[in-house]
Amino acid sequence: MKAFCSAERQRRHYPRHFLVSGAPQPNPEVPERLDRLLAAARNAGHEIVEPADHGLGPIAAVHTPEYIQFLAGIHERWTRIEGAAEEVVPNIHPDRRGAGYPRSAVGQAGYHMADTACPIGADSWESIRWSANSAVSAAQHVRAGARSAYALCRPPGHHAFADMAGGFCYVNNTAVAASVLRRDHARVAIIDVDLHHGNGTQGIFYRRADALTVSIHADPVRFYPFFWGYTGERGDGPGMGYNLNLPLARGAGDTAFLEALERGIARVGAFVPGALVVALGLDAFEGDPLGGLALTTEGFGRLGARLAGLGLPTVIVQEGGYLCAALGDNLASFLGAFEAAQTAA
Ligand SMILES: [Zn+2]
Repeated sequence: MKAFCSAERQRRHYPRHFLVSGAPQPNPEVPERLDRLLAAARNAGHEIVEPADHGLGPIAAVHTPEYIQFLAGIHERWTRIEGAAEEVVPNIHPDRRGAGYPRSAVGQAGYHMADTACPIGADSWESIRWSANSAVSAAQHVRAGARSAYALCRPPGHHAFADMAGGFCYVNNTAVAASVLRRDHARVAIIDVDLHHGNGTQGIFYRRADALTVSIHADPVRFYPFFWGYTGERGDGPGMGYNLNLPLARGAGDTAFLEALERGIARVGAFVPGALVVALGLDAFEGDPLGGLALTTEGFGRLGARLAGLGLPTVIVQEGGYLCAALGDNLASFLGAFEAAQTAA
């Protein structure tokens, strides 16, 4: 299948640090992730395609204008603060959304960033924008009649809310792809198989009945993102019943993951969507450095085949998955099995 990526532009973002248990650590969301995933897709025979520039419209469909202004301009403003670090990193947060909105760059950083894992450097916005362009181009390719497409989005997106970055994510590429598919379909389903709960995606669609959000992830009771991902979160208002969280115990492997996937797929079947977005994190892998679940390389293939079995036009959006020997193999396993099952159907 076609793989959309603007490699040169999406590489530029290079976050240096984040805090783990209070200690500064190297940020694992490094440009080399993109190189490995790109090489794996190319070597597996998928055609790499440069995305078009779709402008800010598709981003504005799921993010607030004040947040987009923040992302686009905050680094420049940050450099004017005397003694400021090279990267934008928050150090104070409001206790709720809708609290006072300060003009201060430091105050806005705290408002729009959930944690320290999403620093913004000089080149970040360029990469963020082109990561979203990859998602839009993949969705447009599916709208034009392809049965599936892969968006190699980096930086990833599923922890980004309508007005808040978090967990290496800035613009929610999965939500962007879903909203582009919505132009042709009354209902679009999202299945998130990343190790971590897709809290930003859930947040964006939480009050909507036109997008079903399903997430399989390590139980947040002892795992990032901690405050979201519980079974009781089922949607709100008109979106009540349109969100399904399937937390798994730490260390769960292929069998438990695929059982959860069946529950997710059953819910998707009852939603009768016209199209599907798969938020493809590869960090549920047993050898991922962020270790929480224990999917195998073969397990990713089984996931891909099962999701293709839904028979829906599908955009596969890259989410997490960090440097380890099998990172590229896991992507190739998923995409290969997905495409083979779709061809056989
Ligand atoms: Zn993740």
